[in-house]
Amino acid sequence: MTDKTVAAASPTSGDAAAAGTGAEMPYARATHAARGTGRVDAATGAVVSPIHVSTTFERAADLSYPRGRVYSRADSAAYDEPEAVLTTLEGGAESMLFASGMAAAATLFQALPQGARIVAPEVMYWGLRKWLIDVARPAGIGVAFVDMTDMAALAGALDGGADLVWIETPSNPLWGVTDIAEAARLAHRAGAVLAVDNTAATPILTRPIEHGADIVMHSATKYLNGHSDVLAGTLTVSVGAAGDPLWQRTRMLRGMNGSVLGPFEAWLLLRGMRTLAIRVERASANAAAIARHFSGDPRVRAILYPGLPDFPGHDIAARQMAGGFGGMLSLCVAGGRDAAITMAGRLRLFARATSLGGVESLIEHRASIEGPTSPVPDDLLRVSVGIEDVGDLIADLDRALGR
Ligand code: PLP
Repeated sequence: MTDKTVAAASPTSGDAAAAGTGAEMPYARATHAARGTGRVDAATGAVVSPIHVSTTFERAADLSYPRGRVYSRADSAAYDEPEAVLTTLEGGAESMLFASGMAAAATLFQALPQGARIVAPEVMYWGLRKWLIDVARPAGIGVAFVDMTDMAALAGALDGGADLVWIETPSNPLWGVTDIAEAARLAHRAGAVLAVDNTAATPILTRPIEHGADIVMHSATKYLNGHSDVLAGTLTVSVGAAGDPLWQRTRMLRGMNGSVLGPFEAWLLLRGMRTLAIRVERASANAAAIARHFSGDPRVRAILYPGLPDFPGHDIAARQMAGGFGGMLSLCVAGGRDAAITMAGRLRLFARATSLGGVESLIEHRASIEGPTSPVPDDLLRVSVGIEDVGDLIADLDRALGR
């Protein structure tokens, strides 16, 4: 990979494309992330927002709720700032926080009409795929899995009709790239909503709504928070889809199901988002350097990273990811499953742990987590590249690969 392909454009500049989206975007994404909403507490002048812990809100003498809030299962003051920052970053109309990424996605799926049909990727975050098979299908929701790197396959699947197209790009853990604009065109032609799991790319690199998506989802547990200490999820809706019954029902179900985030977690998430741009830039640069370093190394059967020029989908990724290709990559170790597990066992700097998007580097043998129905090769190690010194990371991987 050339340096040019690693850093195609600065994510801290050039947000003119935000014009026409709901949230005002006068500054670059990095500035919005760093300053948050820029609000100063009116009572105290505090530049850091307080943690709102109240679960209940006062009625006026006539029993009305003049400030619009009733009870924190429906809506919490603790959500105002993190939701506003995320809405601006994603260029949407409004956002909702949830107790986890799974809760965010599941609530959206539950809001679909009875007998709805979802078209989802064959390779996607394993937990959500399992939810679609084990929970959605038995509940009468039709689910078709297709290769989302192949837009002809998506068009074919949509011949059967659909209410929701779900994509994830780059997608866990093979990092296949989906053309968001084309998926949006096909979904809308079929009368379906396009929802994008943007966890791996983050709004610093990709803003799916600019490419035609209706709803963006995050496991905010990952990059948005970035410190492996908060479990959270988010949905953001485009201006065009905000009035849809699907979004309104999703909001109603969040309150009815109580799949809400605690105030302290919401505050930590807000704090994490303020360093999002700098963390994503650093993790992306580190991942690109690692991919480049081990590319062609005989100890590695394959490196899966959308930033490599010969990776299928690289051109689409270069079009829809600005400023880098993310901090996630997978290494397929020559010698198969045992060699991969031995290699992971020798690492000192990388923690052998699930999850991704934190400041620390993690590595995981996905096939053993996902089980026998997983489409993941058993020589694959998924790597969440952190923000450590890249020389130290490369040296650790190099030593662990052995001779
Ligand atoms: N989507 C992606 C891409 C993920 O990696 C994950 C978690 O690993 C989820 C969704 C689910 O999010 P959570 O673990 O916050 O429920």
